[in-house]
Amino acid sequence: MKTDTKADRTEDPKPEKPAEPRRAARRSRELTVRGLPIAPGVAIGPVYDTTEPPAEAPRRNVRVADVEGEKQRLATAAAASRKQVAKLKARLGVLPEEAQEELAPLLDAYAMMLGESRLLRGARKRIETELLAAETAVTDEAEAIAQAILAARDDDKAGLRRRAGEVHEIARRLTRNLTQAGFRSFKDVPEGSILIAEELTPADAALLDPTRIAGVATEEGGSDGHTAIMLRALGIPSVLGAPGITEAAKRGEACVLDGTAGMVVLRPGEKALEAAREALAAHAKERSKLAKLRRLPAVTSDGEEVDLQANLEIPAELPLIAQSGAHGIGLLRTEFLFLNRDTLPDEEAHFTAYRQIVEAVAGDGVTIRVLDWGGEKDMEALAEGMEPTHAGPNPALGLRGIRMLLKRPELLEVQFSAILRAAALGPVRVLLPMVTIPAEVSQAREIYERVGKRLRRRGVALPEKLPPLGAMIETPGAALAADAIALEADFFAIGTNDLAMYTLAVDRGEAEVAHLYDPLHPAVLRLIQFATEAALRLRMPVSVCGEMAGNPRLVPLLLGLGLRSLSMNASAVPRAKQAVRSLTIDDCARFARRVMEQSDPKRIQELVMGFESGARG
Ligand code: PEP
Ligand code: MG
Repeated sequence: MKTDTKADRTEDPKPEKPAEPRRAARRSRELTVRGLPIAPGVAIGPVYDTTEPPAEAPRRNVRVADVEGEKQRLATAAAASRKQVAKLKARLGVLPEEAQEELAPLLDAYAMMLGESRLLRGARKRIETELLAAETAVTDEAEAIAQAILAARDDDKAGLRRRAGEVHEIARRLTRNLTQAGFRSFKDVPEGSILIAEELTPADAALLDPTRIAGVATEEGGSDGHTAIMLRALGIPSVLGAPGITEAAKRGEACVLDGTAGMVVLRPGEKALEAAREALAAHAKERSKLAKLRRLPAVTSDGEEVDLQANLEIPAELPLIAQSGAHGIGLLRTEFLFLNRDTLPDEEAHFTAYRQIVEAVAGDGVTIRVLDWGGEKDMEALAEGMEPTHAGPNPALGLRGIRMLLKRPELLEVQFSAILRAAALGPVRVLLPMVTIPAEVSQAREIYERVGKRLRRRGVALPEKLPPLGAMIETPGAALAADAIALEADFFAIGTNDLAMYTLAVDRGEAEVAHLYDPLHPAVLRLIQFATEAALRLRMPVSVCGEMAGNPRLVPLLLGLGLRSLSMNASAVPRAKQAVRSLTIDDCARFARRVMEQSDPKRIQELVMGFESGARG
């Protein structure tokens, strides 16, 4: 029985004529889309949207016995696609009404095509009768529908093409969900483009070439997710969590992106372009002013030294770190060694990378964090042989960080061995991610010492006392048990990104709840204070290496809480140094006391913003 759905009408060869000229007129108008300011800077360039080209799935046939399974795969992919489209639609509310009017019907049409539509019915039939794999069936059915639309007798050829394009777009989404294939390839992105995507994973971001890509805007993402961190590290002006951007932007059209204000202007008029050019010039001027700070010491105006270090996500950042004036690397995230590959890196691959980094900082010291796998940092090479805990309902609460490494100690051994070999070339420290109990540190230390002994037996020269082994404090549990963990660890690095996420139960990478992600929430600040004081009581080194450390407005508060070591993305170092040099420790301590008396996050925000203007008491 044929059900008359709107989806069928969308795929119907007869177009709805009057909408097209209006839509075309709107399409040519300037549209401002707001999102989260992620990485500062302004970019002007053509849009490169990543919804095309399609994920090409090889044609495949299946056996009769597999037909039911293929139909089930198709149903699952359709459900996932519907969920994605519903999410896009739910976030349109913040766009100007005109843009909503434009985009909402399109997303409705997509949603209906993903329901009980001709496309899905046809694809199911092809699976049954032609014994096609689900992705092949979808591609064939979409092509047949698109051809029928294009063959319709109608003068509005542009309208027909648009409707055929919509069918292909939905087929591509289904195919991507069926094959789990990456949404895009960045090799062909024309130089100077502004990349626009629904979502970028940290692994995607690691593939971006900052010399080719002028800016990035996505629908999804939160301010301290790993994608955001990677974009900041690469210095690409970026706006994440920008609803409606993928549907409103068209490839090749002009675009202005302001990563400082969190704003994207599609099809900018002359006024917006002029403002962007001015902002670009001001930005360049500010950068050259800050560059002068590179050689100056990070010392407060009353003579207290502060250690400002850089975080490193990929070795490509090394030149930026050298220019930043950072004093070594306070957090080397080693996940890059595992990204975009389907085999595990061996000890030589680890060692080669660490050697390059240790030598590059020329004696300034590198804190190497062993693999922090899990949560959003899914990695193909590790999926093999792992229980699919990470894919469970709460990946962030699953087998992350040190938990996973203690379960697969061979990974830890390879990494420890390479790090200890690199330690002969310059000062290093070793950092354990996601520690929640002291036993995790002592168990890791046993392995660490065993690896040290093995290397010595092999004739590798190691200092009598192995390099310090520290713990990340990045969960409320670890912060509240910091005094016990401090007895096992040689130093602490406070990871405020995860600490805020786990304390507030807000995903750091999720656009939907980004407004609730607040590292200045008093609960987070109290945990930072508690962990810092636990370390200071034992005279143990403690630093902050989450994104908070890179916000110059938070420097007075962090110094006031007793911290003297901050590690941040390289481009944040000059401004942090400028802040340090303008402060006295007394002022900072008074200010921190005042902040810590507050219970309202909004009031804390006001105090932090007002600090410069003299609210120092
Ligand atoms: C943190 O959680 O603050 C941190 C520095 O670690 P990552 O961002 O890599 O999770
Ligand atoms: Mg973390």
